[in-house]
Amino acid sequence: MQQIQHRLDEVLARLPQGVKLIAVSKFHPAAQLQQAYDAGQRRFGESRADELAAKAAALPADIEWHFIGHLQTNKVRRVAGCASMIESVDSERLLRLISAEALRAGRTIDVLLQVHVAAEESKTGFLPDELLRCAADCAALPAVKIRGIMGMATNTDDSGRIMADFKAIAATGSKLRELIPDATEVSMGMSGDWPLAVACGATMVRIGSAIFGERTPGI
Ligand SMILES: *Cc1c(COP(=O)(O)O)cnc(C)c1O
Repeated sequence: MQQIQHRLDEVLARLPQGVKLIAVSKFHPAAQLQQAYDAGQRRFGESRADELAAKAAALPADIEWHFIGHLQTNKVRRVAGCASMIESVDSERLLRLISAEALRAGRTIDVLLQVHVAAEESKTGFLPDELLRCAADCAALPAVKIRGIMGMATNTDDSGRIMADFKAIAATGSKLRELIPDATEVSMGMSGDWPLAVACGATMVRIGSAIFGERTPGI
């Protein structure tokens, strides 16, 4: 118990005021999230729809759930029922579907558009120009609010490359804000690179293993 609280406090002590911490709890059991909750954490990030729905049902109702994984269209309804924010919107089709499902559920969902800047092919997201085009086309959708941008840096030890990626994400975020003034959030930075992300303008960091320890996929 003390370990999660201790790690959380360590992160919070280094995180500047005003930068939001999303505690990424994917693959960790609900009891561990409860420990972070008891230590005061209210924002959690999950990357699988079924896991999010199960944890949302089991844990306190005032948790703000952020969906951060690749969202398949057949899982949108499930996620739209419990997420406060979907950070990983990577296509216009997905965005329109989220709006339709949110409308159906009588809710409005905050979303971030995910931009792809990292070197890895495997990472998902819009190219910067596509992202801006989607934002312009979809700014008036009824049940979603575009609140900013999300991205990941290349998985590398080269801090120059990581910085360049974070700056590219933040720059796309600035252009997005010219289209949608409310789109102020810049979600970037994970356990291994978040201080660099904050230095490059992150307003939200997504930190998992530095709080909950190593993940064991499949539990
Ligand atoms: C898992 C995950 C994180 C957290 O990663 P850590 O290295 O454990 O901090 C952040 N963002 C996304 C999109 C993730 O899938």
